[in-house]
Amino acid sequence: MTRTRFAPSPTGPLHLGHAYAALIAARRGDEMLLRIEDIDATRARPEWEAAIHDDLAWLGVTYPMPVMRQSDRHTAYGAALDALWSRGLLYPCTCTRRDIEAAASAPQEGAPLLGPDGVIYPGTCRHTPTGPRPKGVTLRLNMAKATSEVGPVSFTETGAGPGDETGVITVQPDHMVSAIGDIVVARKDFGTSYHLSVVVDDAAQKITEATRGTDLFEATPIHVLLQRLLDLPTPQYHHHALIRDPNGKRLAKRDDARALRVYRDGGWNGRALAQRLMASPQTAAMIPTSPLP
Ligand code: GLU
Ligand code: ZN
Repeated sequence: MTRTRFAPSPTGPLHLGHAYAALIAARRGDEMLLRIEDIDATRARPEWEAAIHDDLAWLGVTYPMPVMRQSDRHTAYGAALDALWSRGLLYPCTCTRRDIEAAASAPQEGAPLLGPDGVIYPGTCRHTPTGPRPKGVTLRLNMAKATSEVGPVSFTETGAGPGDETGVITVQPDHMVSAIGDIVVARKDFGTSYHLSVVVDDAAQKITEATRGTDLFEATPIHVLLQRLLDLPTPQYHHHALIRDPNGKRLAKRDDARALRVYRDGGWNGRALAQRLMASPQTAAMIPTSPLP
């Protein structure tokens, strides 16, 4: 049995790209779960969460209730952080974004390297702390230490990464250290991070295939590493193409012109729009907002 999930953040209207992601998840799963990724309490809004349910119902995408909401999951995230902390794999970081950019672009360092988590952390605060895990601080994963315990990480890709990678993909420790680095596992304002939450929740929901856009392909080795460290199963991954506008730019949250409600207000039947989208996702942005008579 394949169990997939669609995991939007309630920070704006769903657009054609979200519809495509939800429809892929629904199509590939015998069962599809919805998860509301609302750890960023400053941006999540109840009205956007309600709109997610409305838009999915309109498209004909169904899922069991109640749905998981990340804002209810802080106990589980705290337990995962404690497990990593007790093994000496995390350390507090007090650097600002400015500090990190300055240290990473110091003359001897050359141009700052970008990884899937932003500028690769130059290691300013890295140390092996003792005592209980501090709360309300940023925590980073010591990547060199973590990968030396786990070794290479592998996952099965059933879609295709940005370079058309499929099959079993293996990532070596030195790549994790040099191209990803010490990622944030807990933000001081949220007490968790996207990477930590997605791993803990995919396991809790017993997801067997995580479907999502290719923009998250490069983050996948981080997720598999965290699964190994936390003794959690690794699902298959299915990265799908992103819906792009006619200029080739991926649709963004602020791209309200392609919000599903624009098509709904334009007179589309949601299931008909879903069919049109799945038939030809490459030309999705050309779909008129009102159906042709
Ligand atoms: N919440 C993420 C997003 O809105 C998706 C996370 C995932 O599928 O791993 O892009
Ligand atoms: Zn720091």
